[in-house]
Amino acid sequence: MMRLYLDHAATTPLDQNVVEAMQPWLHAEFGNPSSLHAEGRRARQAIDEAREALSTRLGCLFGEVLFTSSGTEAANMAILGSALEALKTGNPRRKVLLGSAEHHCVLHTIPILQTLGFEVELIPVDRESTVDPNSLRALLDSRVLLVSLMHANNELGTIQPIASCSPIIKEHGALFHTDAVQTFGAMGATVDELGVDMMSVSAHKIYGPKGAGALYVRSGVKITPISVGGGQERDVRAGTENVAGIVGFGEAVRRIVLPSSTARDSFYHHLRGPWQRTVANTTHTLPGHAHIRFPGIGAESMLIRLDRMGLSASSGAACSSGSLEASHVLTACGFTESEAREGLRFTFGRGQDAETGRLAAEIVSQAAEEILSGRRG
Ligand code: PLP
Repeated sequence: MMRLYLDHAATTPLDQNVVEAMQPWLHAEFGNPSSLHAEGRRARQAIDEAREALSTRLGCLFGEVLFTSSGTEAANMAILGSALEALKTGNPRRKVLLGSAEHHCVLHTIPILQTLGFEVELIPVDRESTVDPNSLRALLDSRVLLVSLMHANNELGTIQPIASCSPIIKEHGALFHTDAVQTFGAMGATVDELGVDMMSVSAHKIYGPKGAGALYVRSGVKITPISVGGGQERDVRAGTENVAGIVGFGEAVRRIVLPSSTARDSFYHHLRGPWQRTVANTTHTLPGHAHIRFPGIGAESMLIRLDRMGLSASSGAACSSGSLEASHVLTACGFTESEAREGLRFTFGRGQDAETGRLAAEIVSQAAEEILSGRRG
């Protein structure tokens, strides 16, 4: 059976050019980039070329890009590293503001921040997961050390007004981190256009390998390492670098092609049946993202049936003890617990066109109709 993969926000396949770029670094080239000999120097050079590719794309300085093992590690470093730095330097700011619909790599820093003595406040989002810069303004004061807001939501695909939030945050002298894992590769924004001090990105969402990420840290901004024991990545992230992964990340960045919304729009256009679009207007969403709720059906039944029919989609909700939990993004948006178990995300990727969108709509509509008629029958 031909499968239809509509989960590009979870991960993407490797670009063939990326595979080829990585190949030597999985076999013949095995040097440790910290070694001074020829093998080591070649590995260092390969990492530097990848760093160059990222800094060009982000519009920042070469030395402002730090490689990590993932987007998750990058966001952890930005948030916890800033908090530890404040404690170390005697900076009296003890408050951190986080978007309430952030990825868990941001939200799960909360108990650690609290243990370190920081107060955490969540910035409310509207029904479509967007932060209103005025609600952010209301929470800011001179005690705020850091604000972390995602550039686009991974479940709904809604793009946040990062550039409008930046001056408000700067007025209060706080640091600004954005989790741009979903937008890097889908939008062309540079760090200066966004006005951020730190930005997290990940390779496997842009047709690069898993296990490679990066954190942009603006010159002059200091973070304390959360992994120690080696001098790698400017003494901020200890651990021998994943050379092949980083080389693949660099190549994936050079190969970025900004996506269009053709497949997603066609999908919405052809869907029929009992479904509701979570984001009414797609102007401010990622072009490949569709998010739908199936009232009275639920995400779990839909996911299982769609998988059997050969279509891979996802629900933002985590799976625990065999059943789906409510999506924390949808509850943050004001949906009830049961409504928050009804959402499915369909994310289109490279090579998928209007016909893919139509076919996907056909399968999804049929799955929903079959579940409902099975219940009636
Ligand atoms: N942030 C967002 C918004 C994401 O969608 C993801 C991945 O799903 C991550 C962070 C984590 O990235 P990684 O898988 O590289 O750890």
